[in-house]
Amino acid sequence: MNLVVVSNRVARARANEPMTGGLAAALLPVVEKSGAVWVGSSGRVHDGSHKDSFAEIEALGAGALALLDLPAAHYGGYYEGFANSALWPALHSRSDLIRVSQDDYQSYREVNAFMARSLMRFRKPDTAFWIQDYHFLALGAELRDRGVRGPIGFFLHTPWPARAIISCVPHHRELIEAMLACDLIGFQTDDDCENFIGYLQSELGLAVEDGVVTSRYGKSRCAVFPIGIDVEKFALQAAKASSHPDVSRLRRSLNGERLVIGVDRLDYSKGLVNRVNAFDRMLMAKPALKRTVSLLQIATPSRGTIEAYGNLQSELAKLVSDVNGRHGEVDWTPIRYLNKGFSQTVLAGLYRTAQVGLVTPLHDGMNLVAKEYVAAQNPADPGVLVLSKFAGAANELTTALLVNPHDIEGMSRAIATALSMPLTERRMRWEAMMRKLRAGTIQQWFADFIEALEDSRSCNTTSANENDVIAVGPPDPWPRQAAGSGSARFH
Ligand code: UDP
Repeated sequence: MNLVVVSNRVARARANEPMTGGLAAALLPVVEKSGAVWVGSSGRVHDGSHKDSFAEIEALGAGALALLDLPAAHYGGYYEGFANSALWPALHSRSDLIRVSQDDYQSYREVNAFMARSLMRFRKPDTAFWIQDYHFLALGAELRDRGVRGPIGFFLHTPWPARAIISCVPHHRELIEAMLACDLIGFQTDDDCENFIGYLQSELGLAVEDGVVTSRYGKSRCAVFPIGIDVEKFALQAAKASSHPDVSRLRRSLNGERLVIGVDRLDYSKGLVNRVNAFDRMLMAKPALKRTVSLLQIATPSRGTIEAYGNLQSELAKLVSDVNGRHGEVDWTPIRYLNKGFSQTVLAGLYRTAQVGLVTPLHDGMNLVAKEYVAAQNPADPGVLVLSKFAGAANELTTALLVNPHDIEGMSRAIATALSMPLTERRMRWEAMMRKLRAGTIQQWFADFIEALEDSRSCNTTSANENDVIAVGPPDPWPRQAAGSGSARFH
């Protein structure tokens, strides 16, 4: 099987660069090894005059990375508009933040159609397409419209909300019907999958049996595939990272103080304001903790041109400065607040330096930072994870200190509990979490999804045979020296 993975953002195998988010970070190590072609946006746009909008095609492990310049006329409406000002807030149950126009929807559909046309270049008789995330909800249908009969999978990295919330998105029916062109639709958690199935039944009036729905496209299976991380690689990276200059500087600067760490994109779903308020509350309730602990909050700028993100950045900067002004001393700053990104090599070392990992989103598909924090700990003296009940990771990491991110008081108590937890309890909780992480690695996730995709497609064998379709585009779509074998291998 030839595998083509499609996402908006892609990652490049450059050890010293920050990742552009969980999806790219998670997929890189597995796509690299699989021999797949990974197609995504180059981050640049074109004005439509180019004959070929693939800006770059380069080797990626045993496969290739193909970067596409998206059409300038539709990029804003697609990315900042429909994807991130309508779908993202709705998927995170923030219907109050939906801002969208009819033009945005048209642009979203245009970019989905453009991506489908571009993908034809990589289509061979045995190609399977695996679409990632909410940027391309309509891509499966666009591919079927172009005669693709082979397997098409879709995986959603974000949550899927209740029917009443997703119904706030204009054209929701049309979009969700288009998703049913995929043979397999994967979610992070049972709740997400149940919400989606509930929508199909109650809004579209479709019958769903054992997760399988029949639509005009045939059968689609809805299932849960919680995404994981490369646990052993992360653990090794963290052990080695203590000698990295950034990590040693942090350690030296702590002067015996304990460290609480938060690492997030600057996004309203991450619960950053509540988290800073909880840290503030803890210092007020327990003044003896002053000068003994500080919070390192990395808040990597994200989608800054969207109003809600700009507002959050200003609110958070003011709040952090208020807390530092209120509790700080001439030689002690309670919150070290950084608006920049770090490579995962450095992050691994920072996680290991911190006695507490604070991961408290209001709602999150999985939250890979939670898993990375656990994997990075020193087995002899592990730190404590304080984790929101509303992160997908909470379904697996049940021995973290689970908190309600809306309950500031409860979170402040949990941070204090984490700081004083005895070693035996810390080890017991950490070992249980590591067992979960090792049972659900990113390699396992990838293999499980592909196996289920092949099974799901074989249930649709009554549809036209893909072998009847003549491959479009050049027979060898990327430079031979870059491509490796070109066929997917799953580990
Ligand atoms: N990340 C990074 N550098 C940073 C901040 C984050 O490489 O400065 C990575 C982090 O290691 C993780 C991902 O970005 O793998 C964030 O994923 P998560 O699922 O936690 O959240 P998302 O950003 O996808 O909402």
